[in-house]
Amino acid sequence: MLIYLNHRFVSKKQATVSVFDHGFLYGDGVFETLRAYKGRYFLLREHLARLRNSAKRLGIPLPFSLNRIRTVLYQTLTKNHLPDALVRISLTRGPGPIGLDPAFCRKPTLVVIPRIFNGYPSAVYRKGMKLAVVSVRRISPEMLDPQIKSMNFLNNIMATIEAKRAKADEGLMLSREGFLCEGSTSNIFVVKNGRLFTPPTTTGILVGTTRQVVFTLARSIRMSVVESYLLPSDLYNAEECFLTNTSMEIMPVCVADGRRIGAGSPGPLTCRLRELFKERVRSECGISAKG
Ligand code: PLP
Repeated sequence: MLIYLNHRFVSKKQATVSVFDHGFLYGDGVFETLRAYKGRYFLLREHLARLRNSAKRLGIPLPFSLNRIRTVLYQTLTKNHLPDALVRISLTRGPGPIGLDPAFCRKPTLVVIPRIFNGYPSAVYRKGMKLAVVSVRRISPEMLDPQIKSMNFLNNIMATIEAKRAKADEGLMLSREGFLCEGSTSNIFVVKNGRLFTPPTTTGILVGTTRQVVFTLARSIRMSVVESYLLPSDLYNAEECFLTNTSMEIMPVCVADGRRIGAGSPGPLTCRLRELFKERVRSECGISAKG
């Protein structure tokens, strides 16, 4: 596997960064996870825009233009012969003396790590995931802008640990006020009385690129998405629930905190949106319906 590290492709063994890198010392960096289907990135523009925005908010200069980053991302696929992949791009403050002041970090570190990914097994989509509402809360937007997709993922990690302990696939974090917020790596949607709801950005969610696609798909079937404050009881009593992110796409949730959601199997709206999502991927990535 070839990894892109600061202007060149190196082997996994050679892909090491300095212990003085502020990404390592302080989690001072940003990242994106992109998905490629049959050699083409899905939502590439959106991911790159978010990377640029995250970096800008933290004052980390991009080492080169987005166009050049796009080229590097495609080179990562071709050099590794990986048409279907998840690719993580990380940009850190770079090495500097110990101490928080970023002014002494003169060279940001850019790393692109690919891995083969063909999607979750179809059985997972048939059965749906299990969700656990965890005790760790999402950091409030007043504390840290959640639109900065930073490398500080500690509460998401703690949510994951808690979810695993509860034998769930994903931990659902509440906002400080106790409203449904987001999964440790995903956004959440619920269907109630035939309407589609999702937590608003003011709860502190990351505005997922997949979440935005769901808004467009819902509109295409004359369904609006209502952004509204939701309680755990709205989840437990939902007719359907699903999670979204780059790797899951649209993932049905059939159990939350041990309670069955709806009929306990993926609901009709979830399945419809999932089909539309696949179509959208096919059209954006230039894949024929058979492929
Ligand atoms: N929320 C969090 C905390 C995430 O980490 C992610 C993705 O990793 C998402 C939401 C979904 O974002 P996207 O749809 O852009 O993958």
